Amino acid sequence: MINENRLLNEFIELVSVPCPSKDEKAEAELIMGKLRELGLEPEMDDVHAKTGGTCGNVWAYVKGNVPDAPVLLFEAHMDSVAPTTGTKVVRKDDVLYSDGTTTLGGDDKVGVASILEAVRALQEDGAAHGDVQLLFTVSEEIGCLGVVNLDKSWIKADYGYCMDIGGDLGEITYAAPKLYDIYVTVKGKAAHAGIAPESGVNAIMLAAQALSKLPAYGRIDEETTFNIGLFNAGVGTNIVCPEAKFVIDMRSLNVAKLEALKDSTIALIRETIEAGGGQVEFDVVEGCPAVEMAKDHPCIQLAQHAAEKLGYPVELKTTGGCSDGNYLCGYGLPCALLATGMSNVHTTEEYLKESDLYGTARWIYETIKTAAAK
Ligand SMILES: [Zn+2]
Repeated sequence: MINENRLLNEFIELVSVPCPSKDEKAEAELIMGKLRELGLEPEMDDVHAKTGGTCGNVWAYVKGNVPDAPVLLFEAHMDSVAPTTGTKVVRKDDVLYSDGTTTLGGDDKVGVASILEAVRALQEDGAAHGDVQLLFTVSEEIGCLGVVNLDKSWIKADYGYCMDIGGDLGEITYAAPKLYDIYVTVKGKAAHAGIAPESGVNAIMLAAQALSKLPAYGRIDEETTFNIGLFNAGVGTNIVCPEAKFVIDMRSLNVAKLEALKDSTIALIRETIEAGGGQVEFDVVEGCPAVEMAKDHPCIQLAQHAAEKLGYPVELKTTGGCSDGNYLCGYGLPCALLATGMSNVHTTEEYLKESDLYGTARWIYETIKTAAAK
């Protein structure tokens, strides 16, 4: 049985510890201590050697008593977005807020606290369950660095559940986009703007021409988006601009569509820039792989059956956002995202209903039991 009071206190304790991205050490030590209290042997990997953070990801393995059940992995990230240090939780009408000076950190301590409480409750109840792997990652908020850099041979599970998305209990996200970041450098030619403008090639104008020829941007279709989020150029008002840089964020749930969009965009920009007398370089960075699962995948079905048992209205969804779950899928672990109720995240108005905290823990608990009952 989930112990609501204990879970609430643990959530408050977890968000009260400073945990900015790249400096999750105090949080990681707190979590490892709690895992040891559960009789587990937590391990920390060494991703901080690559990320430059103060600690690695925290892993633990819960041995089950149903040997042939699928092994489930539950994942949540330890870092919170700024301003995060000094979080004081304010309870109002069964809703948790910060005091308005920091984020609440429900993103993603609702995941961390719910996972810990679900395992504790399974142990106390002597429930039948298979093996469960736990993963608490670092630096999710600055590009999923903990998951990007982990050693995938540490993953010992059949199905994964990323506890890091808002929405109502019962919402299961089975698809998330593949993402490309395309760094574009347009090169023109510098010249004095007043004395010899005709001998220059203006990189800003070339970039503008190329961007104005894009057939679409923003939402391309229901599964594809396209954004120019950064544009930097110029050295002085009296200089014909020699170089302009911009970055395209494109993503799609449909990987073939994304590849075609990438190729056509690069071709269009190159053609326009070169026709205008400039040169262009592209650096294509694969942001994250896609989450792609059939709606009847066993990973989805387990969470769905558990939600139905709990009376949560099930809804199978897609998202345009990327998370640790994308990378876990990329490593070959089918991974769904289960809604936790976290709301207004990444703002000081972030909040979490207490009922969603308790309900998330119950969903994890029930999913683990469902996997063992199969
Ligand atoms: Zn998050």
